[in-house]
Amino acid sequence: MAGCENTREMPYELLVELVAEQLHRAGCSQSTSLILAENCIKAEIAGSESHGLFRLDGYVATLRSGWVDGMAEPKVSILSPAHVHVDAANGFAQPALEAARSEFTARTRDHGIAILTIQGSHHLAALWPDIAPFAEDGLIAISMVNSFACAIPVGAKAPILGTNPIAFAAPVPGGAPFVFDFATTSLSNGDVRLAAREGRRLPPGCGVDRHGDPTTDPNEILEGGALLPFGGHKGSAISLMIELLVAGLTGGKFSSEVDWSKHPGAATPHTGQVIIAIDPFVAGAGDWSSRCTRFIQMLAEAGMDAYPGLRRWRIGDRDTVSVPPDVWRVLADSETAVI
Ligand code: NDP
Repeated sequence: MAGCENTREMPYELLVELVAEQLHRAGCSQSTSLILAENCIKAEIAGSESHGLFRLDGYVATLRSGWVDGMAEPKVSILSPAHVHVDAANGFAQPALEAARSEFTARTRDHGIAILTIQGSHHLAALWPDIAPFAEDGLIAISMVNSFACAIPVGAKAPILGTNPIAFAAPVPGGAPFVFDFATTSLSNGDVRLAAREGRRLPPGCGVDRHGDPTTDPNEILEGGALLPFGGHKGSAISLMIELLVAGLTGGKFSSEVDWSKHPGAATPHTGQVIIAIDPFVAGAGDWSSRCTRFIQMLAEAGMDAYPGLRRWRIGDRDTVSVPPDVWRVLADSETAVI
């Protein structure tokens, strides 16, 4: 097996098997283990380091802490013709989405637009793997997740917002889906943790220490400090909207209501997720194919080499994955390891 000083190349299929085995041993059902393993390995391949294999430790610690139910069976219900709801039953958000995906897609096609609310779920991953498949299926999708209190809204003194990511995916006729996905804070919590681990300072303006003073030290942000929303009052308002939609509308917890103090090791916020999907070929007032194609053309004419989503699309699938040394050590413990 090829390797270099810091990382080792591992066949994709074997890596999925080993990561899933770790999750299964920590208390996840076989099917949920597989969903989470593929999710964080795809993020790793796409360069989403903060939500790739680095998260394995967090999943395992959370499962062992008893905070999340890795065996949870999501319950899907229909609240109105265009509203599908899932009670994730204190399990992960991704299996809850998979339990509802086909019903939600069918209702989006029937009505032109539909909403999926997921409540009582845990999401520790990148959002784009959840919604890119909708765009590959010809639908537009917007997803939002709230997390745990670690960011201060503009005008407030206390950190009541999560890093609250938002993602958007749309089909581009004959091309890669248009996809963006980011936290509404200046940085994701994962990036702050990575900087702390690697001894790096952060750019100015990302966060404050426990006294509310600006800091570039990731440890000061993590230990009693807080992150700031991106773009000042604009990112702050988007993040407030996400709290309202994802907690207010779904019945899940607001980020400031997440209390995992009795579960040392817990790292997955217990909140909710909202996905709004649109069938542009049913609900669009214009001709989506030609309008979207024209728009992508305009971006190219304006000098944009790659519209959002194209970079990741070009990376595509990989037969092998570079595994960081700390993850390698966790995997080497696996009973199924053949390394
Ligand atoms: P980034 O700041 O890295 O931004 C990522 C997005 O911006 C991608 O759509 C990426 O497109 C695009 N992008 C990045 N850099 C550039 C650039 N130089 N020029 C143009 N486009 C660029 O994301 P975050 O660090 O805020 O978030 C990382 C991940 O963390 C996300 O996937 C998010 O969902 C996840 N997250 C999850 C949370 C949870 O609770 N589950 C909480 C917070 C974050 P492309 O990839 O196509 O290059």
